[in-house]
Amino acid sequence: MSDSIDHGSKPCEPSTAARLEELEREVGQRKRAEERFRRLLDAAPDATIIVDQTGRIVMVNAQVQPMFGYTRQELLGQVMEMLIPERFRGKHVLHRGEYNSHPRTRPMGVGPELYGLRKDGREFPVEISLSPLETEEEGLLISAAIRDVTQRKWAQDQLRAYAEELQRSNLELQQFAYVASHDLQEPLRAISTFCEMLAKRYRGQLDAQADQWIGFVVDGARRMQALVQDLLAYSRLETRARPPEPVALDNIFHRAVENVRALAEETGASITAEALPTVCGDPSQLVQLLQNLIGNALKFRGGEPPRVHVSAARREENWVVSVSDNGIGIDPKYYERIFELFKRLHNADRYPGTGIGLSVCRKVVHRHGGRIWVESEPGRGSTFYFTLPVPNEQAANPGSN
Ligand code: ADP
Repeated sequence: MSDSIDHGSKPCEPSTAARLEELEREVGQRKRAEERFRRLLDAAPDATIIVDQTGRIVMVNAQVQPMFGYTRQELLGQVMEMLIPERFRGKHVLHRGEYNSHPRTRPMGVGPELYGLRKDGREFPVEISLSPLETEEEGLLISAAIRDVTQRKWAQDQLRAYAEELQRSNLELQQFAYVASHDLQEPLRAISTFCEMLAKRYRGQLDAQADQWIGFVVDGARRMQALVQDLLAYSRLETRARPPEPVALDNIFHRAVENVRALAEETGASITAEALPTVCGDPSQLVQLLQNLIGNALKFRGGEPPRVHVSAARREENWVVSVSDNGIGIDPKYYERIFELFKRLHNADRYPGTGIGLSVCRKVVHRHGGRIWVESEPGRGSTFYFTLPVPNEQAANPGSN
């Protein structure tokens, strides 16, 4: 008997049967591990394709078939470029080569815009994440998780279209408001001039009713002129906007006060301000803003002579400017509405106006990147607040103004 023959049957060596058993166990274990891996893969939300370094498909999960229309069997062993529209294939092979030499995890949404190709020839946009998978038997494999983003792309395209449409119609509306208010001025001027001439020349020559009616027409034409002028000023905030420049609000305050001087003197008002910061903006729009707020504080005064105070405080990246008065105040339920175009709380006999002043304020503030609001106690006074961003050069120095 040769050595080699009885070698296997030595008592301390495993018998052939035992080796076979062990082998079977190993194979069983590997099969179970593979099965577990496949089940995990099938449970993943995205379609997943695993390819080897040459781009051949070695494994796919259950989500691949409904997405691409191929069965597992049709895909295994094929080159993965079959799932990409022809015009992208050449580039894809190059990308794959680059990826193989620097394999790394690449999340969804990074990398070039990609499309998938279904068996029936239809294309669809996809997002793909890649992860390298080091294996003992097959070396480096690449796992690609693929997500069909048709819905999302459609929603994005829809959103983009809406935004463009909105911008276009906004522009059209602006243009319309501008042209309408501009072109209405001329005929209105004619109406009011001739009505005033009628009133002057024929007062007392017709009957009392006629005099009253002419009075109404003159008054109506005047109100309409004020409206049209304010509307024109409102639409010019966009059409006549100037590039922003550093603006000292102290200066702006003085110009605004100068513009309301007549009413201030007439009402015995005191208008004061603390040191105000320098901001970045359009000086004439900022004058309009402060002038409207101070003007309103004088107009909507209570029984006492108006006291108006302007101050500014820094809150993080913004200056908060406040204009407070001791006037009639505003009911909290109107805090939002008063900033809308033409919205007024009183009739024109008691407090003249067009209801555009605060809309102008809001537009100016928004155009400067801030917001505006009011706090008030009816009967005691109101404080209007608006914010303006702290200019960059001040941002580094919290104490400066
Ligand atoms: P207008 O002054 O032409 O009426 P605004 O847009 O400037 O238009 O103001 C809208 C409304 O907000 C006013 O009609 C008034 O009722 C209210 N309002 C504005 N400012 C004040 C204020 N300082 N105090 C009380 N009410 C105010």
